[in-house]
Parts: sequence; C-alpha cells; structure tokens
Amino acid sequence: MKEALEDMVYQFGYRVVVNNKPAITTGGLSALEEAFGALGWDDPHILPEDGFSCDIVGCMKEPSSGQTWGDIYLRLCREHGGMAFKKEERPPVKEYATRRESRRDKVTGFLVD
Ligand SMILES: [Zn+2]
Repeated sequence: MKEALEDMVYQFGYRVVVNNKPAITTGGLSALEEAFGALGWDDPHILPEDGFSCDIVGCMKEPSSGQTWGDIYLRLCREHGGMAFKKEERPPVKEYATRRESRRDKVTGFLVD
C-alpha cells in the first residue's frame, strides 16, 4: 500500500531542485498533500541523488531520457539529453552512474548483479 502511494506521488508530484538536491513537491494539490501526509513526508520531500537526478556531475534535474553518450548509457535531464543527441562533448559522469553501467550486459542491455 505504501509502495503504491509512493509510486503515485512519484508520477504526479512536481519535481524540483531544493538546496542542490533532487526533490518532489505537492505543488499545493490537495490529493498530493494528503498522500505526502500519509507517507510522513515533508513538502518538498528530498529524494536520493542516485536514481532521481541526471547522471552528469553537478546536475540535480530530473532524468527525462536514457541514451548513449559516447561510450556509456546515461539517464539524462532534458538539457543534457539534448546535448547528447547533438553529440556535444560529454561533461563528467557521476561515479554511481559509471558503477551502474559497468553492470550492464552488452548483449541484452539489462543491468546484472
Ligand atoms: Zn542534466
């Protein structure tokens, strides 16, 4: 039940950056405010950087696409996704993203343990 509520909040909440950390807010919507209350979350609720922000060092924006940039598959925000699409020079990649992608199977494309 808690997991279902979190999934709903992640889908409909508003993604923001607060104190240079990824976060999610209700945007003042009462249904989301009730859900945040049930989860015991502050508004805005700070999210972990790994999994909730762009894979480029220093970027805390929400990832909106996954694509290959140079020799690595990355989860990128709109801005960095556009740079990757235009094959611009890739800024440094976060260490956890490099670690994650070292586990990706080259044939299936799935992450393996
Ligand atoms: Zn970015």
